[in-house]
Amino acid sequence: MREKWELLSNIPSVDELLKSPYGLKWLESHPRKSVLKAVRTVLDRKRKEILNGLEPDHSRDILAKEIEEALRHLSSYKLKPVINATGVVIHTNLGRSILSDKAIEHVVTTAQSYSNLEYEIAAGKRGKRYSNIKDIIRELTGAEDAVVVNNNAAAVLICLDTFAKGREVIVSRGELVEIGGSFRIPEVMKASGAILREVGTTNKTHLHDYENALCGNTALLLKVHQSNYRVIGFTEEVTTEKLMNIGREYKIPVVADLGSGCMIDLKRFGVHGEPAVQEVVKTGADIITFSGDKLLGGPQAGIIIGKEKFIQKIQKNPLLRALRIDKMTLASLEATFMQYLDEEKALSEIPTLRMMTEPLEAIKKRAKKIFRILKDISGKADISVVPDESQAGGGSLPEINFPTFAVSIKPSNIAVNELEKRLRLGEPAVIARIKDNTLLIDARTVQEREIKGLVSCVIKAFE
Ligand SMILES: *Cc1c(COP(=O)(O)O)cnc(C)c1O
Repeated sequence: MREKWELLSNIPSVDELLKSPYGLKWLESHPRKSVLKAVRTVLDRKRKEILNGLEPDHSRDILAKEIEEALRHLSSYKLKPVINATGVVIHTNLGRSILSDKAIEHVVTTAQSYSNLEYEIAAGKRGKRYSNIKDIIRELTGAEDAVVVNNNAAAVLICLDTFAKGREVIVSRGELVEIGGSFRIPEVMKASGAILREVGTTNKTHLHDYENALCGNTALLLKVHQSNYRVIGFTEEVTTEKLMNIGREYKIPVVADLGSGCMIDLKRFGVHGEPAVQEVVKTGADIITFSGDKLLGGPQAGIIIGKEKFIQKIQKNPLLRALRIDKMTLASLEATFMQYLDEEKALSEIPTLRMMTEPLEAIKKRAKKIFRILKDISGKADISVVPDESQAGGGSLPEINFPTFAVSIKPSNIAVNELEKRLRLGEPAVIARIKDNTLLIDARTVQEREIKGLVSCVIKAFE
């Protein structure tokens, strides 16, 4: 074995590499900073390997190849598209809802120019950020007034902060939920300075439980949608409508945190259990909050609607400035809401709604299409189209499984975990799931335009 020092001295210097034809080529197409970092990373790695007793190949060609790989990594975005083959439509880890074409167009035009974000064009004076979107939300939901913030957690927080600081908020024990990503009702309550007054039991809460808890320090009655779980069996909960009876009688505002914000009655698609926003408005609830990127299918946002006097009070809370929505979100939210003016179009053009309500036959067709192109790898895996179940995700409809079709791949030359990993690390990255030792690609959440990339990623994983 050659001496370590001899191997080390054969490693070129950074300067030498930069001045080589390779280096000149890299500097032409990449920032100097990135080239330096890539070169140093690879040279350091080689030196470490030598010091550890290895004899790595450090010919110029190999070095160049590795440096180019490092450069590719450095110059690509870390936030990047992935193909969601999990069948979970509102996948919080994968960005929840994908935006409709119309929403994207509106974002692009708004970002490219100055806009009337906080300017009243007709009056020629300063305006409110929220006034551009207020009317469409009012029209669609039937609420008196509306304001929007950064997300639904912020919506709940600002409601508590505005009306219940240092005072009591009555919530059913069956509704003290935790939503993925560390949103927990008791903790949001604490952060806002409101005092949680739990009533009832996990499975049953009665109207008189609320009534008995009322006191001079009661600020709000809060109704939280049990987004991601259900209590079944011997249960009872007080509806928002019934809660309103107490609210009116004792003059205590009722807040309903709906979570998902479903704007279309999905019962005809067999989707039960999500209250439609308009229905909750009809109960007379004083304040209603919901997310922009769950069933609504828009950007991350928190929508607060309700009686004008309460919404106006929220608008005067200085916290609103810290929780405010940015112009690109506002643009995509406005476009998404506008699409709801035509329900049928909303169902077909808003991706989240389309995926949730797509006919099974159409999903099967897409699964078959993927299957047909994948036949090339049939020697290396057992492939078929199988019925399975997808989920809504995003803390919506936990008990409903949506029938779907998936492409099932059982590799013969590698472990199924290895295949799953290769797809994840592929380009584009494909996120799939494993069930009974087979890999499943759920066609429900794969977009038509993604099929080509998906298939090439799978084929490459078998090379
Ligand atoms: C999802 C959810 C939230 C949090 O909404 P984000 O938009 O994720 O901040 C709050 N409450 C309920 C009931 C939810 O389902």
